[in-house]
Amino acid sequence: MSKTALITGSTSGIGLATAKAFAAKGYNIVFNGLEENGAEIAAEVAQTYNVGHIFSPANMLQPEEIRAMVQQAFDQFGTIEVLVNNAGIQFVAPVEDFPEDKWDAIIAINLTAAFHATKAVWPKMKEQKYGRIVNISSAHGLIASPFKSAYVAAKHGIIGFTKVLALEGGEFGITANAICPGYVHTPIVDKQIPDQMKAHNMTREEVIEKVFLAEHAIKEFITTDTIAQTILYLADSEAAATITGIAMPLDAGWTAH
Ligand code: NAD
Repeated sequence: MSKTALITGSTSGIGLATAKAFAAKGYNIVFNGLEENGAEIAAEVAQTYNVGHIFSPANMLQPEEIRAMVQQAFDQFGTIEVLVNNAGIQFVAPVEDFPEDKWDAIIAINLTAAFHATKAVWPKMKEQKYGRIVNISSAHGLIASPFKSAYVAAKHGIIGFTKVLALEGGEFGITANAICPGYVHTPIVDKQIPDQMKAHNMTREEVIEKVFLAEHAIKEFITTDTIAQTILYLADSEAAATITGIAMPLDAGWTAH
């Protein structure tokens, strides 16, 4: 029987690449995301790889919707073997100007949603004595940059959460790991470019080179495929069966500074 992977925020960027990588391995995919054409994106991937799928527009701000998404997956596929907590947003402002609603939303989507999704899948993973949880943190889960207070707090927080899951899950065959990407060229990064151009009085190319890639030892964006294949390694390979509780940088050398 096929395994099932639930990937939050999987109708764009890193999540979508991850969904494709798991679909290519024959997993049923539970897609989620707020993209307007999410249902079509999900159906197209499922058709390409000939796998079962659900598209859930569950809003990560709403715990009830997260629980309903997990229940829908159980109803359709029976179990969930892999949970990738990936949905995330960003907002950039100095701390004294940081809007309170943006702080709340970033903590809710980038951190608290992972708690609700994990809590909902946990009893079944325990019962089946198998589960793979991968949380998408960031290089900003290991180090900070100015003006990203909520994001850095959430991404540090999710690494702590991951470590607790590793300790609690060990005896039940559940592993939990975090990955910490540097800059990946996806919509979340693209949306920051106009603000950065204004803030630094730079062209688009200058922002990419001097702001985003400045700290990468390898002056390239990380690809979504690199992230997806690493998640696959952590969640689908026998070799990674005893890897748990780690926060793995995939950051072109950024945090080696
Ligand atoms: P993206 O904007 O392409 O994708 C984010 C996904 O999350 C989208 O599908 C979006 O609809 C979904 N999402 C956002 N808010 C949601 C909500 N309230 N409910 C449900 N879904 C919601 O960005 P991405 O770069 O693919 O980001 C994926 C993850 O990777 C995020 O957690 C991000 O913080 C992390 N990350 C990204 C980078 C990067 O450089 N792109 C670096 C490190 C970490």
